[in-house]
Amino acid sequence: MDINTELQEKVYKLFEEGRIERFIGYEKGSLPYKTKPCIIRKKEDVRRLIFNQFCVNNLSIYLRGSPMKTGILANTCTLRSITMLIQQKQVNPENLFVIAVNCAGMADKEGNILDKCKTCNHELPKIYNELIGEEITVSCKPGDEYNFITELEKLPVERRWEFWNKEFEKCVRCYACRNICPVCFCRECVADKTITQWVSKLNQSSTNEFYNLMRIMHVLGRCTDCGECERVCPVKIPFRKILKKMEKEIREKYGYIPGRDPSEAPPLTTFKEGDPEEGIK
Ligand code: SF4
Ligand code: SF4
Ligand code: SF4
Repeated sequence: MDINTELQEKVYKLFEEGRIERFIGYEKGSLPYKTKPCIIRKKEDVRRLIFNQFCVNNLSIYLRGSPMKTGILANTCTLRSITMLIQQKQVNPENLFVIAVNCAGMADKEGNILDKCKTCNHELPKIYNELIGEEITVSCKPGDEYNFITELEKLPVERRWEFWNKEFEKCVRCYACRNICPVCFCRECVADKTITQWVSKLNQSSTNEFYNLMRIMHVLGRCTDCGECERVCPVKIPFRKILKKMEKEIREKYGYIPGRDPSEAPPLTTFKEGDPEEGIK
């Protein structure tokens, strides 16, 4: 049975059994190499559901704030974000039915596998209800996922600062990076506060820098490297380079990997005797 039929049949059954009131998945987009997120509300519509190498969106952002019994299709990217959302009490797992999918990687319109997928370990957190898709063989060796940041890591601090300053200067303050991020869920973002105003709306070098560093610090220890902020940024700021570096630091210092287990709290929200505290030196 092909993956689309398998998915559609499973979701149809969930509606029939009354286990879900809606299902979050993907449907065909406007072009052959595009898909778009969709919310299915009745069993007659499950035929719209698909899964292929163009299903790039992280679907977890559609879960927040809904009390409905919800089914969702989740690859490793989406599932790690769901794990974080459960851990951060943004999603009630009792209302959730997860169909996990073995994801062999997403592609751009030319069919090239996305960079983030080349180093994906494909490990699905064990919080799903059912699994579809063929098993995946992982070719990336552990540790290789950091190769793309090594060059930048080797530069002296001043040069790294220069690099990021140049990148942040390009920012047009559209806030797409914040709006797409599953773990950016403050009711009122610091960037929108006017009383007290922490960061000016002016699109200029110093305020762009403040905004971007503020957002990056806010997702520290919670970012699961889904790559959505980088994908949607209209000026292509390479966020994964800095987010991956931070993830590496957290992994090395605290042995913590965001999105692995909903019962594990991010290190910046907990305290253990013997913590290295190198982060505040
Ligand atoms: S990073 Fe992994 S889970 Fe995410 S889209 Fe790529 S292959 Fe799929
Ligand atoms: S990669 Fe970007 S969008 Fe994804 S969790 Fe991290 S900060 Fe958020
Ligand atoms: S998506 Fe890019 S341009 Fe838009 S606010 Fe974020 S960093 Fe700036």
